[in-house]
Amino acid sequence: MSLDLTCKEVAALLIAQEDRELPAAERVALRLHMTICRTCPKFEAQLLTMRNAFKRWRGYTGE
Ligand SMILES: [Zn+2]
Repeated sequence: MSLDLTCKEVAALLIAQEDRELPAAERVALRLHMTICRTCPKFEAQLLTMRNAFKRWRGYTGE
């Protein structure tokens, strides 16, 4: 797998890592892309916000 990911691939990996641990090579490629891209870090921040909100919401339902 190439270290030169497109933003589309990065978005797919960010979503995939919500469900599964990414292989080290993919994590490195992801982090590398984050340092050179302006868009993807914003997308990741949005994902994290959504995930945290979802966690809180699940907490309120009293699992
Ligand atoms: Zn990107």
